[in-house]
Amino acid sequence: MSVASSTDPDLILLVISSPSGAGKTTLTHRLLQEFPELRFSVSHTTRKPRQNEVDGQDYHFVTEEAFRQVLDGDGFAEWAEVHGNLYGTSVAEIDRAREDGKAGVLFDVDYQGARQIKEKFPHAVGVFILPPSMDELRRRLEGRGSDDADSRRRRFEKAREEIGHYPFFDYMIVNDDLQLALAELRGIVLAEGCRQWRVAAKAEALLKS
Ligand code: ADP
Ligand code: 5GP
Repeated sequence: MSVASSTDPDLILLVISSPSGAGKTTLTHRLLQEFPELRFSVSHTTRKPRQNEVDGQDYHFVTEEAFRQVLDGDGFAEWAEVHGNLYGTSVAEIDRAREDGKAGVLFDVDYQGARQIKEKFPHAVGVFILPPSMDELRRRLEGRGSDDADSRRRRFEKAREEIGHYPFFDYMIVNDDLQLALAELRGIVLAEGCRQWRVAAKAEALLKS
C-alpha cells in the first residue's frame, strides 16, 4: 500500500495516543508493516526495558542523567513524565525521517506529548485509541504480562484521566475488533496522504502539460 510520495514537502505526522493497554503498540506495529514509507519515531525513555523490547528499536533506553542532557541541549521536540518515568521525542528522530525521504512519521506518545507536537507542527494529526470497556482494558493490561502488579495498577488508575483528554484529538478509534480498528487507522493514513497540499504538485504538473 502506498501513501504520498517521498518528494512531498510536508511529512505526515501521525500522533497516536491511548491509555496504556488499549492496543496502541499492537496497532502501530501492524500499520508500520503495511506502510514502509512511514517511520516509527523511537522515543527516549528512562523506563526499564520489558523482556521483548529492543534498545534503539522500541525505545532508546537511557539513564535519567542522559535524558536530562538531551533536554538541556534542547534536543527534544516534546517530552513528559508518564507513570513515573521520563519519555521524549528527539528532534533528531523527525529530521531522520525527512533525510530518509519517508512520507511520514508515526509517534506513540501520551496526551501531553501529543499536545506539544501539535503546538510545534499544527498539521500533525492526532488519533486516540479507546478500549471497548474498562473491564477489557484491565484484562489487556493483565494479559500482556509485561508490567509488575504495581505498575499495572498505576496504569489502570491513570486510564480515566487519560481518556478525559480525548477532545484534543482529531480521530478516535475504538479498538474492540483488531481488524476493524486497523482498517480505520489505515483509512486515516490514506486520507492524510490525499490532503490537497500534498497532491498539489501533481495538479500543477498536469496543468502545465
Ligand atoms: P498499549 O500499547 O496501548 O499499551 P498493547 O498494544 O501493548 O497496548 O496491547 C495490550 C494487550 O492487549 C496486548 O496483550 C495485546 O495483544 C492486546 N490487544 C491489543 N488489541 C487487542 C484487541 N483488539 N483485542 C484483544 N486484545 C488486544
Ligand atoms: P510504555 O511505558 O507503556 O511504553 O508507555 C507509557 C506511555 O508513555 C504511553 O502512553 C506512551 O504513549 C507514552 N510515551 C512513549 N513515548 C513517549 C514520548 O516520547 N513522549 C511522550 N510524551 N510520551 C511517550
